[in-house]
Amino acid sequence: MCRFRPTAPLDKTRVFVYTLSMARFYEEMENILSSGSVEKLLLHSCCAPCSSSVLEVLTPKTNVTVYYYNPNIMPYEEYAHRIAEQRRLCELLSVPLIEGEYDNDNYLCAVRGLENAPEGGDRCEKCFYLRLLNTANEAKKGGFDHFCTTLTVSPHKNADVINALGYEVSKQTGVEFLPSDFKKRNGFLRSIRLSEQYDLYRQVYCGCRF
Ligand code: SF4
Repeated sequence: MCRFRPTAPLDKTRVFVYTLSMARFYEEMENILSSGSVEKLLLHSCCAPCSSSVLEVLTPKTNVTVYYYNPNIMPYEEYAHRIAEQRRLCELLSVPLIEGEYDNDNYLCAVRGLENAPEGGDRCEKCFYLRLLNTANEAKKGGFDHFCTTLTVSPHKNADVINALGYEVSKQTGVEFLPSDFKKRNGFLRSIRLSEQYDLYRQVYCGCRF
């Protein structure tokens, strides 16, 4: 049975409005962090390499717990490899880690009918939404005041869409969203360098089998 009920695809006008008002996501994130309002942050991590440079930015500024929730990764062996690397990195950096459920059936329900959509399109939007919604619910359960995601470090993912979804999820759950665009200021390049330094496994595909 599908536990995830996808909403209608994100209204593209709303993405545009968010983009106009929040075009400087990185600067907005810095302003929020320096205001001192982020005391306990739950950071959704898509993988250890992406989280490496994001943790370098965030951990000096607030209390971060990593949340690994990625039921989109297939096959299971690949998922097991990626989460093992996340565990290793969190141990190395002494950052707490919460491991989410590998509810791959839930992911497949969320993207049903969009299997043939191109990467970066509507299937990815559902995939982002599922992961952000689950992260916000976990944040609420654990008493975190903000949630955030490493997904914006990737140059292949649309930060406008991810941030727009983050704000929508925040409205739905009542947990504050910390916007970001971690690829800025060489964030992606830094994740490659840190992955080399920590000898992290860097996957060659996003995650799903589609
Ligand atoms: S390509 Fe990546 S973001 Fe898009 S649906 Fe697949 S796993 Fe999710």
